[in-house]
Amino acid sequence: MYLAGLITGSWRLQLLYVAFVVLFFTVLEIRVLCRHCPFYSRGGSFLRCYANHGLPKLWSFQPRPANIWEKATLVLSFLLMGGTPILIELNGLAILHGPVSRQIYTGLTYASALAIVGFFTLLSVHFCPRCVNFSCPFNRTPRELRQKYLDRNPVMREAWASLD
Ligand code: SF4
Repeated sequence: MYLAGLITGSWRLQLLYVAFVVLFFTVLEIRVLCRHCPFYSRGGSFLRCYANHGLPKLWSFQPRPANIWEKATLVLSFLLMGGTPILIELNGLAILHGPVSRQIYTGLTYASALAIVGFFTLLSVHFCPRCVNFSCPFNRTPRELRQKYLDRNPVMREAWASLD
């Protein structure tokens, strides 16, 4: 994205992207995902978990499952976060001249795309199957483990059971 900025001479998209990422992790994700997470119910005004440790808890804990709009917001945000860097890089490629420069830049764009796919694959394979935030649309914790967890968490069990 830095190279795309140098090539195009415009940093507007990069700055918008950075603003979106900061806003997502500090406000949006807390609102649509984290406040449904068991980690969020811990005492104090700041989150204590393995991912967003130290961020302020702007809303009260909500043990009920996330609704369809919250899930849709999360999925859309992830698509934007993963897809925008590639679009910005392709924007640079569109005006880049010289075959060698284009080949190198194309290779870097492929590498970026692979890194993004790799990151989400890593999350999906190693974290999503053992995450306790069952509200997340990407959660893949096996059904029997979910049930065992809910059996030991009466607050969440009650909130989830009231929807059955
Ligand atoms: S573990 Fe994930 S969903 Fe839960 S509070 Fe931390 S960042 Fe949010």
